[in-house]
Amino acid sequence: MALLLVLCLTAAGAQDRFAQLMKDILIFDAHIDTPRYVVDEGYRLADEHGYYELDIPRMKKGKLGAVLFGIYAQPQDYAPQMWLPRSLECLEALHSEVKTNRSDIEFAYSAADVERIHKSGKLAALASLEGGHLIADSLRVLRLFHQLGIRYMTLAHFRSNNFADSMTDVEVHGGLSKFGRELVREMNRIGMMVDVSHISDKAVLDVVAESKAPVLASHSSVKAIAPIDRNMPDDVIKAVARKGGVICINFHAGYLEKAAYDVYMKNRPRRDQEIKDALSLRANDPARWEIVRGIQKRYFAQMPKVDYKVLLKHIDHVAKIAGPDAVGLGSDFDGISGMVPAGMEDVSKYPVLVKGLMEMGYSDQDIRKIMGLNILRVLRASEEVASKQ
Ligand SMILES: [Zn+2]
Repeated sequence: MALLLVLCLTAAGAQDRFAQLMKDILIFDAHIDTPRYVVDEGYRLADEHGYYELDIPRMKKGKLGAVLFGIYAQPQDYAPQMWLPRSLECLEALHSEVKTNRSDIEFAYSAADVERIHKSGKLAALASLEGGHLIADSLRVLRLFHQLGIRYMTLAHFRSNNFADSMTDVEVHGGLSKFGRELVREMNRIGMMVDVSHISDKAVLDVVAESKAPVLASHSSVKAIAPIDRNMPDDVIKAVARKGGVICINFHAGYLEKAAYDVYMKNRPRRDQEIKDALSLRANDPARWEIVRGIQKRYFAQMPKVDYKVLLKHIDHVAKIAGPDAVGLGSDFDGISGMVPAGMEDVSKYPVLVKGLMEMGYSDQDIRKIMGLNILRVLRASEEVASKQ
């Protein structure tokens, strides 16, 4: 009887603690790719959807307070002359959606903006650029993107470019090129965070050595748990952390668990061909995106199920080897073709991570850091480095 009473009191205490935390916690996600859906499909942030992973109603449900939205044009999908216009279109779409929904969401240009917007009860939208290929090898274009709100740039995407080697392409520079070093210095100078996701391990180490500001891995998971190309090995995680940087864990089910990745990679050529065919055969059919989602769903169902608890393991691993200041969230929602972990299907689910971290014994302070404050700290540090130059 006494034991039952103790258990009840403990559960009530945990419930109180959870409610207290959720009251004002800043949940900040470093990488969500929704803007392309706005451009391609007329997706509206204001409406609640039964598909894709982010809209304003679901952000509110999940207490997601700030998002660094990804702007991109994959080098393998778009002709080089489309890289810059496609990026500008997606960035404009984000600004337009934020303006349309100004009573709920506001564009943030600084760490102070994020804090002010969060305190006002609104959601903060920030922008990021995924891949150095998007700036047409021009530091002037980089600076203009900064003026338009871009707050980090990933140095390379799925292909190596003139700045850095990609993790998923041939090695061209043996890490970061001379031009890449110049780019990092310029990003430091203007206060744009340097994102080391997607680039080769050697390139990450080069960036860490070159950058005066802490760097971000905006959406990278842990290689020691899931040994696949896109994930980060422990020595690289530690190097990023030593310089005050943050590794934001990617939620892609295939990046969390290798067994899921193997099935995904085996089926990928067939899946991608089916999607290509559906899009070309139905070029003017507004139902084509629904057909694409159907194809993605069918292939996702063949992958072994990955529970969101595996995601907590990745977070815990980084915290254990590099400290709780070195880990954050970079879901890659709306960029992972619906391959989400069970229990973490969209942005409405973030509170389960808070609960999970509580159960794993993390302090309130560490939970706040992991759920958002670490990313905010890197953004602020980048601004400080810029202000001193
Ligand atoms: Zn990516």
